[in-house]
Amino acid sequence: MSTVLVIGAGGVSSVCVHKMAFNPDIFSSIHLASRTKSKCDAIAASVKERCGVDVATYEIDAEEVPAMVNLIRKVQPSLVVNLALPYQDLPIMDACLEAGVSYLDTANYEPKDEAKFEYHWQWAYHDRFKQAGIMALLGSGFDPGVTSVFTMWLKKHKLKTIRTLDILDCNGGDHGQHFATNFNPEINIREVTAPARHWENGEFVETPAMAHKVEFDFEAVGPKNMYMMYHEELESLAKFNPEMERARFWMTFGDAYITHLTVLQNVGMTSIEPIKYKGVEIIPLQFLAAVLPKPETLGETTKGNTNIGCIATGEALDGSGEKTFYIKNICSHEAAYEETGNQAVSYTTGVPAMIGSAMMVQGIWSGEGVFNMEEMDPDPFMDMLNQHGLPWTVEELDGPVEF
Ligand code: NDP
Repeated sequence: MSTVLVIGAGGVSSVCVHKMAFNPDIFSSIHLASRTKSKCDAIAASVKERCGVDVATYEIDAEEVPAMVNLIRKVQPSLVVNLALPYQDLPIMDACLEAGVSYLDTANYEPKDEAKFEYHWQWAYHDRFKQAGIMALLGSGFDPGVTSVFTMWLKKHKLKTIRTLDILDCNGGDHGQHFATNFNPEINIREVTAPARHWENGEFVETPAMAHKVEFDFEAVGPKNMYMMYHEELESLAKFNPEMERARFWMTFGDAYITHLTVLQNVGMTSIEPIKYKGVEIIPLQFLAAVLPKPETLGETTKGNTNIGCIATGEALDGSGEKTFYIKNICSHEAAYEETGNQAVSYTTGVPAMIGSAMMVQGIWSGEGVFNMEEMDPDPFMDMLNQHGLPWTVEELDGPVEF
């Protein structure tokens, strides 16, 4: 039984808050605060309608540390769940430190003026969290999050060491829009337009964005083009699995998405450099995000499945030589919408955020300091994935992937 304070009221938060409310034996009191209170109220109304649970709502600018500290002191949660944007990670961590309350998020900190996803800003809080006797759990979404837990589960149950790792993220959903992103457009576009980076022989190797394309036949989706890109879990996976020779991240994009993105990039609409327009300073990417469909409005029209998983090759635990395993989850957009009113990209992030929170508030995962998912026992988290809407399968492949 515990009180949680969730920050942010987008698609991911909506799923997480619904799932917390469906589990009142774990989350007895849920508080939701965001920049726009009406969005919190809409989530609270949906939760009330679906399961009769009350969610308390508040307006907060999470970048205002003193206001955040006051809110935390008023609510007295055992955990603050940050489902706002990566820009708010550090101010919310500062507020948690001052109020002495543990912290969880789903995406690593990124400065507004620099498209750089790196953990070092948050890892630098380790000693202060340790001294305060509280815990921060970083990246409890799907990727990062479940992909890290999948990898560590393979390493616990199937492979002694991992030689190569490929993370394959496929969204086979069709939302019927010409161009829309399935999570926050600003964060999504910053991510896909950044140079690709993969881990090889002890260092990150940088290649141009979207330059490496491979077709892969995804179960429950079909053949799709996937592109190698940088994703933040590569940093923590490389840190906690130093034996890996190579680790790569792949994401699928349709041709129409790539064409739109190329045009938008060519005309300067994806830039994060401020420009003056009629005397007002605007950031082109933020303006673009404002005119694109809101991710939380895509749920009703999105059809199809997501398929996200890890293919790992390494030395088998049972001494039978080198083996390759593919571990994945398939999630239906329609089923996700039916259950929480949100599409599967929000669902596959919001459910692991709820599970990570459950691990922490029940003391199943504990510690003092700042931790990544790789440092925790994967088993109880994997059990909850099966029980709470993200079932997974693992199969042995004939050999390493050749792409
Ligand atoms: P949305 O943009 O839909 O929602 C973000 C929410 O944060 C909005 O409600 C927004 O408020 C609120 N917010 C923004 N700034 C502030 C602020 N200063 N103070 C308080 N609230 C603020 O994003 P998503 O729900 O799609 O994503 C949420 C998080 O999940 C992001 O960090 C994203 O990167 C991460 N993510 C992680 C994934 C993973 O697998 N690990 C996958 C997908 C997303 P307002 O409504 O006023 O705009």
